[in-house]
Amino acid sequence: MTDFAFYAILIIVNFKQKEERPDFQDRSGFKSIMSIEINRNNIKELIEKAMHSEEIKVYYQPKHDAINGKAVGAEALARWITRDGEIISPAKFIPPLEELGLIMPLDWYMLENVCKFLSGEIKNGRPVVTVSVNFSRLHTEEKDYTQKLCAMVNKYGVPHELIEIEITESALASDENNVISFVQEIRDAGFAASIDDFGSGLSSLNFVKDVPANVIKIDKSLLSGNCENEKERIVLESIFDFAHRLKLVTVAEGVETKEQLGFLRTCGCEIIQGFLFARPMPEEDFREALKNSENHSHQSEDILLTQPPATATQLLLDVVFKRYPLIIMSNLNRNSFYMMAYENFSTRSCPSTGVYTELIGHGAATMHPDDRKLFSDTFDIDDQLNSYKNGERTRTVVTRQLGDDGIYRRVETTNYYIKNPSADDVLAITLSRAIE
Ligand code: C2E
Ligand code: MG
Ligand code: MG
Repeated sequence: MTDFAFYAILIIVNFKQKEERPDFQDRSGFKSIMSIEINRNNIKELIEKAMHSEEIKVYYQPKHDAINGKAVGAEALARWITRDGEIISPAKFIPPLEELGLIMPLDWYMLENVCKFLSGEIKNGRPVVTVSVNFSRLHTEEKDYTQKLCAMVNKYGVPHELIEIEITESALASDENNVISFVQEIRDAGFAASIDDFGSGLSSLNFVKDVPANVIKIDKSLLSGNCENEKERIVLESIFDFAHRLKLVTVAEGVETKEQLGFLRTCGCEIIQGFLFARPMPEEDFREALKNSENHSHQSEDILLTQPPATATQLLLDVVFKRYPLIIMSNLNRNSFYMMAYENFSTRSCPSTGVYTELIGHGAATMHPDDRKLFSDTFDIDDQLNSYKNGERTRTVVTRQLGDDGIYRRVETTNYYIKNPSADDVLAITLSRAIE
């Protein structure tokens, strides 16, 4: 189980909306024409020079909690600001760089600048959030990618959970096994990984389910208008359902209207990135925005008074999950269960609802061979129902369970038996946690 990087630092937001200056407008606001002509022959040299002279800047676009509007992260986006103040959008230079296979140095440059920024903010005691950095699919072929990533982030003393790697959906078109191991290595090193622009390409859902990313970013092209078209709503609802069942955190990109936000909330979308909340902004403005959000945190509404039942339930669940990352509710009389797991507690291969005896069979298969019988006997339905009749209200077992990482851990599983108030069924609430 890994930390939930997105929620590592929650900051109450009250962003002053600082407008990103539109492309090709200088600092005084006067329009200027693009004075640099980029072509296949000069792009390598131009970009190298621009990086060297720090004309390529990192802009930050905050990401917000869909329910309470807090800033929970930001995306780093490249902007080329020429000496005469002209801003060149990435749309002008990223696609040709990718096409020519020259994008890699730029992505590393961006990461390094994000690390410098975060490290400075941390040293000065200023608030920080997880920042995602775009890495072109070409990096999946890069040798020693993860070592290089760790070396750079460690050089600046930035905690890994403050960095998220965004890989676009089109990357999934590359060699499947390559992409899976690429993302797995990133996750194993403690970074978050997201599938960017989901829905913009043709990747198969079947493959996406195998990519061990923990975040999925839904492409803005799926949000047309105010989400009033029924068929488009169905597509979005299905995508969110699919993502949630895979236990992926969902981010909607390009959210511009309150209506879109309202619909996305009904889909259970967790995080919003878009002009509705904030535009990409230069470092100084981003720092200011985070500072303001901290200052405003005390004046925000009291969620315990404004949304008490939902908030209280969520808080309670968060706290219980801190101790028990896996909770299962089972109906012993009906042989059914519903499972809730915190983040990706090794349940990837198990459905969240279904037949209880199959769940126990699945669980037993992940146990150490010497513990399988103990596990199956402890959770035998008839035995539990008989014991319940004889007054047993709780039972605990400790077994060694194999994690997705291939390591056995001692896991304590406790069942609490309760009667369903509206029927005769006996329900078992299972709380499970690793004890080493
Ligand atoms: P992306 O990674 O999907 O980034 C989100 C894009 O959506 C950004 O465009 C952002 O400005 C834009 N956006 C955000 N909110 C809204 C909204 O509400 N409405 C609309 N219409 N647009 C919104 P941007 O900055 O022009 O970047 C375009 C693409 O260029 C990025 O798409 C990313 O794929 C690529 N890119 C940018 N920086 C880098 C980089 O450092 N490395 C790599 N490999 N690609 C980068
Ligand atoms: Mg992105
Ligand atoms: Mg995107």
